[in-house]
This record gives sequence, structure tokens and C-alpha cells, in this order.
Amino acid sequence: MKKITIAIDGYSSCGKSTMAKDLAKIVKYNYIDSGAMYRAVTLYALRNNLFEGDYPNEPALKECINRIHIDFRQNETTGKSDTYLNGENVEKEIRSMEVADKVSPVAAVGFVREALVKQQQEMGKGKGIVMDGRDIGTIVFPDAELKIFVTARPEVRAQRRLAELAVKGENVSFEEVLQNLAKRDFIDTTRKDGPLRQAGDAIVIDNSDLTIEAQNAQMLKLFERSLES
Ligand code: C5P
Repeated sequence: MKKITIAIDGYSSCGKSTMAKDLAKIVKYNYIDSGAMYRAVTLYALRNNLFEGDYPNEPALKECINRIHIDFRQNETTGKSDTYLNGENVEKEIRSMEVADKVSPVAAVGFVREALVKQQQEMGKGKGIVMDGRDIGTIVFPDAELKIFVTARPEVRAQRRLAELAVKGENVSFEEVLQNLAKRDFIDTTRKDGPLRQAGDAIVIDNSDLTIEAQNAQMLKLFERSLES
């Protein structure tokens, strides 16, 4: 059966990864969370004191970049894929507010993007993949057969993120989350390398008022249409 590449891009916390994971499960494709890779590099930089204020020390990070190995492994207990940094499961740590706060400046660094984009393209070589991020349909897989650009109203996104953090026991305010999202969106859309933008041939889904079932049905329809074309 023909296999395609599916790219899902969009703003922070608009439900891209839920959509990408669900679609991958329905169509039995591999799911790759490209944001987790930028988060893992950020965690490495934090642990190794490679930040000067809000920004990474680029020469120091460059020296280490080839020593940062990221992979994904299936967690038999949760049935989900966990992120590993140099062999250690860092799935929980990379979702913290501390990492969320520092990740966009790291993701704006050209050599970081170059290294991660290369790995992402390697992971997608055999097609049959759903990858979500910011530059998947524009830079990583510009030839993807199906490109979806996801949006949702900022307050809806902040509320969803707040609920996620609360489950993890992180006590932050709605305002803090809203500010973090706005800051990340600003850096992500205005950076020089691989900025977040909608690919010309992407289909926009605003999921602010969509149920999970409705959004899955919409994606499945798009998937089937892409297979036929
Ligand atoms: O998707 P997630 O919110 O986990 O991504 C974390 C951060 O990683 C984003 O705010 C963005 O700065 C960066 N990112 C990126 N390119 C991608 C995926 C994520 O720059 N393809």
C-alpha cells in the first residue's frame, strides 16, 4: 500500500501533537514529535550551564552539539513513545516550564536546527510518518503529500496547556502560560532559520471548537484524499 508523509505544523499548544499522535495511530504510521528534540537539546544546555541569561552560549553549545543524541523509544507501560537524551529517559523533564521557557531561543540557533532537521529527514526516509512541529511542511519535508497547519484561539491554547501542567503537578498561573505561549510564538515566527509559517499547500484546521472525534474524522478524510491523489 502507498505510504505518504504527513506534516503537521502550528503554534505552541494548539493540540498538534494530540492530532499527530491520533492520526498516526489511526493510519498505523510512526509518530515523531520534533519539538521534543528541541526540548531535549535545551535540557542538555540547562544541565550543562550553557545558558547566559535567556540565551544559549552558542560557541559552547556548538562544541557539544555532536555529543547530544536523541532517540524515541516505546514505553511498554504507557504505550507511548518517550524521548531519550544520551540514553536517559527525559520525557518528563523536557515538558517542564523551565524547558518551555528556554526552548525557543535554542531552536532559533542555526546549527541546532541544521543538526535536528538532518535527523528528522533521516527518520522520515521510508515515509509512513506523521511529524509535528513548526517547519515540517516548509523545511523538513517540503514534498510531504499531506500538510496540515493547526491553529486555535490563544486563550483556548493557554487553558489546554495549563490543564496539562496541572496534571504534572506544576503550579503556574494562566497569565504565565499565556505569556510563555506568546513569547514562543513570537520567537518561532520571527527567527531567521526555519521560521514557523504556513506552507502554501497546507490545509488549515482551527480546532478551538472541535471535539477530538471531529478533528480525527477531518484528518482521516484529508489522509484518504491525499492517498488517492
Ligand atoms: O512542539 P513543542 O511546543 O514541544 O516545541 C517546543 C519548541 O521547539 C517550540 O516552541 C519551538 O521553539 C521549537 N520547535 C521548532 N521547530 C520544530 C518543533 C519545535 O523550532 N519543528
